[in-house]
Amino acid sequence: MTKTTDVLIVGGGVIGCSLAYYLQKAGRQVMVVDQGEIGAQASSAAVGLLAPLVPFDNEDFVPFLLASWALFPTLVPELEAASGLAIAYQQTGSLHTINHAKRVARLEQQMHKWQRWGFHTVWLTGDEARACEPVLSERVCAAVAAPQEGQIHPSSLVAAFATAARNKGAFLCPQSGVTGLETKGTHVTGAALSTGEAVACDSLVIAAGAWSSQRWQQWLGVPIPVRPVRGQALALHQPAATPLTHILFGEGVYLAPRLDETVVIGATTDEAGFDTRVTEEKIAFLLASAHRLVPALQACSLVRAWAGLRPRTADSRPILGRVPRWENVVLSTGHGAFGITLSPLSGLAMTELLMTGQTPEVLRPFSLDRFLPQSSGTRARK
Ligand SMILES: Cc1cc2nc3c(=O)[nH]c(=O)nc-3n(C[C@H](O)[C@H](O)[C@H](O)COP(=O)(O)OP(=O)(O)OC[C@H]3O[C@@H](n4cnc5c(N)ncnc54)[C@H](O)[C@@H]3O)c2cc1C
Repeated sequence: MTKTTDVLIVGGGVIGCSLAYYLQKAGRQVMVVDQGEIGAQASSAAVGLLAPLVPFDNEDFVPFLLASWALFPTLVPELEAASGLAIAYQQTGSLHTINHAKRVARLEQQMHKWQRWGFHTVWLTGDEARACEPVLSERVCAAVAAPQEGQIHPSSLVAAFATAARNKGAFLCPQSGVTGLETKGTHVTGAALSTGEAVACDSLVIAAGAWSSQRWQQWLGVPIPVRPVRGQALALHQPAATPLTHILFGEGVYLAPRLDETVVIGATTDEAGFDTRVTEEKIAFLLASAHRLVPALQACSLVRAWAGLRPRTADSRPILGRVPRWENVVLSTGHGAFGITLSPLSGLAMTELLMTGQTPEVLRPFSLDRFLPQSSGTRARK
């Protein structure tokens, strides 16, 4: 049986579901298909930090990241109302710590950069940092406090985008992998699903996360340079006597205190293909680093450990926009370590592209063209 939809979105992670919500709100009929459960991959492995004070300074990427981050305070109540689900958004505030005097100059430089981006930040001595967060190690010699940084419960965010989209009329189809494309000239006219069904569509969006390269580049004849980068994380119970209250960065890890009285410790980076198992080595690294930052965590019991696959590109920026030579195919993928934070603006800007046919200015730096040789040829394939 063939179903029809205006826009077929492949991938029901936070990126696909955010786009489904905004498109459906704008009046397009959307179908989201996922080869597994909606939101079950990277988007629920994420820690959910909304903490854009990154050490790097990329003039294209940072403004996009900050603009997306700034949407959360208005998006959260809108989405909670539209979905009926709580997202656990908290402006926890963070402390970016250092443990050696030789790092002071660098942290000061970063603080001034963050202030130029418009962030309220405060320099703290080690003792001032421990006054804010008494469980911090004596090793901490200085910190920058960033009260506007926060966090969200990532799988609740995906569920809220998905439910709100469905409430507005979107079709969500879990366990429905795309197994082939129907094409006519420079158009994709539909897709075959693992369920045996087919879907006819006016537009196709590839939001397949770490799987966006795989067979898509064969089907479309265009290289899509996205690879899986494994991230591992774990959760401990909070220290009973003095629970953490801030997000802490230091010793090569971050610690995020959650509403359920756990502390999430993240996240490692390694390349292991599509393997989502946790490894003893990385979990030991996370625990040892967290214990150096907050010694009281040594007495806390482990709740769970997990891993997920970040979709990463060679320049660590997403790919957002048209697929060359195809009139009606777009990519929204490669969001790397920041997909939760980038999901609102990604969804909004891609909606504008699909509604108007024009690429919004904010998306121009993220075109697939940056990875393609000027003369790359493409051919339609099934
Ligand atoms: C440990 C860890 C911590 C992280 N922490 C943060 C954080 O604190 N803050 C932040 O902003 N980001 C964080 N991230 C990054 C964030 O999780 C990702 O950038 C984001 O989830 C990517 O979303 P996505 O929708 O592109 O991918 P996914 O959530 O992986 O969704 C892609 C979906 O596509 C489906 N799919 C693939 N191929 C097909 C097909 N052929 N047919 C149908 N469906 C298909 C998959 O089943 C999958 O469900 C973290 C990631 C990890 C791993």
